Amino acid sequence: MSDQIRPQPGILDIALYEGGKAHVAGVANVVKLSSNENPFGPSDKAKEAFGRTIHSLHRYPVTDHADLRTAIAEVHGLDAGRIICGVGSDEIITFLCQAYAGPRDEVVFTEHGFLMYRISALAVGATPVEVAERERTADVDAILAACNRRTKLVFIANPNNPTGTMISAAEIARLAEALPPEALLVLDGAYAEYVEGYDGGASLVDARDNVVMTRTFSKIYGLGGLRIGWGYGPRHVIDVLNRIRGPFNLSTTQLDVAEAAVRDQDFVAKCRTENARMRSWLAGALAELGVPSDTSMANFILARFANVAEAEACDAFLQGQGLIVRRVASYKLPHCLRITIGDEASCRQVAHAVAQFKGVK
Ligand SMILES: *Cc1c(COP(=O)(O)O)cnc(C)c1O
Repeated sequence: MSDQIRPQPGILDIALYEGGKAHVAGVANVVKLSSNENPFGPSDKAKEAFGRTIHSLHRYPVTDHADLRTAIAEVHGLDAGRIICGVGSDEIITFLCQAYAGPRDEVVFTEHGFLMYRISALAVGATPVEVAERERTADVDAILAACNRRTKLVFIANPNNPTGTMISAAEIARLAEALPPEALLVLDGAYAEYVEGYDGGASLVDARDNVVMTRTFSKIYGLGGLRIGWGYGPRHVIDVLNRIRGPFNLSTTQLDVAEAAVRDQDFVAKCRTENARMRSWLAGALAELGVPSDTSMANFILARFANVAEAEACDAFLQGQGLIVRRVASYKLPHCLRITIGDEASCRQVAHAVAQFKGVK
């Protein structure tokens, strides 16, 4: 490495993000349960919209995303003027860090929180501050104790990945109320649609000027490959984020497919119901085999093993059966495996394989 040409401080502290594995050497037909993808893919309406965009690929996309923002606003009962759309919710997280944190500032998140918070904080030279959880659940008092006048952003995924746990709206409101005046609370709602009747924190955003919500089309909408997310916040925040957003950050294909997807709430409801059914089935089946998990509110469960060796051995055994789940050592949970809720056949395969691993049948 040249000693003259150096990146900004913080950049070399970033550990490269490793996505969920998709292949096993020597196995042709794998079942991928490592990235919390929707086993049913996107809705037919979204796929049809994708096909239609082929006719306009020579045109630049719109810059204001008005149609998509209007659709999101209508479906969720929000103010379209306070929505910003991005290349996955990852881009909204990036914008928030770029806009609100820099050297000497602190960015707070929890012990088993999403890895992108640390990466995005380090990328802007800010100091990541990790707060202990209690029983794999965010602890509002511990978060508040970690905040000071240098704290600029506090990230909480609710429900959280990879734990699947969530905290109550009252706890979130208490956190927002007690933050230092310079700090913005970011509620990452990547899995909000899996929680029946939960607004992802939208009403708290409306009630306050220090809360932002991020959402994604990558999970229940089954569009992770297309990269679309959005944020909802107070006007002053959205105005700031729009200044750093590239005018053409989203393609016409992304915009049109997302609009069709968000308008198909029947599909979302069907996926939510099926996920809940198979999630409780799989959690119950694994618990009977001596592999417990916390009650998950998302589209995966965090299976806990007796120790790291057993988790690693089970992971290897599952891979031998073509079943790819997620090791979560980088989330400080080396004795756990995160298993995405697939379709019924995949869930049965996982339960069967874990039973074989445990020597039950
Ligand atoms: C999957 C996930 C996201 C989604 O990221 P995208 O960039 O929208 O694909 C965001 N936050 C958490 C906690 C996630 O697990």
